[in-house]
Amino acid sequence: MALHKGPQKPDERPMSVNPFFGEADPVAGMTEAPPRHRLPDAPMPSTTAYQLVHDELMLDGNSRLNLATFVTTWMEPQAGVLMAECRDKNMIDKDEYPRTAELERRCVAMLADLWNAPDPSAAVGCSTTGSSEACMLAGMALKRRWSKRNPKPGARPNLVMGINVQVCWDKFCNFWEVEPRLVPMEGDRFHLDPQAAAELCDENTIGVVGILGSTFDGSYEPVADLCAALDALQERTGLDIPVHVDGASGGMIAPFLDEDLVWDFRLPRVASINTSGHKYGLVYPGVGWALWRDKEALPEELVFRVNYLGGDMPTFALNFSRPGAQVVAQYYTFLRLGREGYRAVQQTTRDVARSIAERVEALDDFRLLTRGDELPVFAFTTAPGVESYDVFDVSRRMRESGWLVPAYTFPPNREDLSVLRVVCRNGFSADLADLFVEDLTRLLPELRRQPHPWTRDRTAATGFHH
Ligand SMILES: *Cc1c(COP(=O)(O)O)cnc(C)c1O
Repeated sequence: MALHKGPQKPDERPMSVNPFFGEADPVAGMTEAPPRHRLPDAPMPSTTAYQLVHDELMLDGNSRLNLATFVTTWMEPQAGVLMAECRDKNMIDKDEYPRTAELERRCVAMLADLWNAPDPSAAVGCSTTGSSEACMLAGMALKRRWSKRNPKPGARPNLVMGINVQVCWDKFCNFWEVEPRLVPMEGDRFHLDPQAAAELCDENTIGVVGILGSTFDGSYEPVADLCAALDALQERTGLDIPVHVDGASGGMIAPFLDEDLVWDFRLPRVASINTSGHKYGLVYPGVGWALWRDKEALPEELVFRVNYLGGDMPTFALNFSRPGAQVVAQYYTFLRLGREGYRAVQQTTRDVARSIAERVEALDDFRLLTRGDELPVFAFTTAPGVESYDVFDVSRRMRESGWLVPAYTFPPNREDLSVLRVVCRNGFSADLADLFVEDLTRLLPELRRQPHPWTRDRTAATGFHH
């Protein structure tokens, strides 16, 4: 959530509204728009309020053309109906809504099975508002386990991870006062290196995070190799460091498309896994999942029981109240697609990603960093000879055709590298992919004629005002 300030520019003179927006009589109806930065003095008809809000929202982007986000932008109408039916259900009222609670439990069981928990009945887990909350919970469990095995006063806990981690891990370290120990990128390695990670560990390391599906380029981190490096570390030093897998995206891709890839609870060192139900779990935002392999991985004292809603259901969450509709929609989607359905959907998405990546590569102006064959995501940069424009120009110009393709610089030690990233999601059809490649191809002659890259200069110039 953006941290908002008050009005930059207070409401000045009242603006008029379309007389049609008033009541039946356009003259007696509302003629002046309500204030925007303080509560209006009086109520207005629901039709007017609806029209005002609706019209303003027309200026939001078209979510299906947003190739920046991983979050689901299309669900079937039936899912929408179910979610509307569950609008009033509060996830925390597990006693009032026992069936919703039961669907949540079943989703956890299905994920424990999908992620190969050795004993699915021993696995514990919960729904969250997204992967960020799930990562906070998993990180807290790691921290608490560390403080129990290492009760030295004054010791400062640390968490080892690649510099490519999603911002939620920076938040976790900041909010919970854990030192982040980051493995930098090096050369053509854009994510964590197992050996380098093991070398950063010491007796105050609460865990190592492996990312299944790096946000920066869509690549899978080598979780099995990471576990092996930590096994070797344990043999050498006795340090037994648990691994958390951040499978925000890949947790719902790899089980269907990369069955031979061992990254989950099959690895004894993997203590916990999270995923975003609202990414490749294929549900509208906000639902995520956090699972622990067994009760030992989740210290009991972090779990709360409240009895003031009736019942006595254990919960592990940051929020108290939370909508139940997304959890219901997750269960619906699990039921609706099954393994075969998920496989088909994710395979189509991966096919689309690979096909666009290949065609972008064939344009000769670009160099691919990834090809969409892990997450259905690929990152690319301009080829060595391209000097008249840069990735920021491409991003800006693609917006003219409605496409949102983010351009950004990489973190240390590859700050020299700027890339564009395309995230393919269910609903980004082969048809839309063709249009995307056409639009990009059409831009190139103009971009090549530029005397030099434009966008960055302009950004720098705007930055100067601050
Ligand atoms: C998106 C993402 C997150 C954060 O997930 P939300 O569901 O948006 O809170 C965390 N880690 C990774 C790797 C991600 O891709």
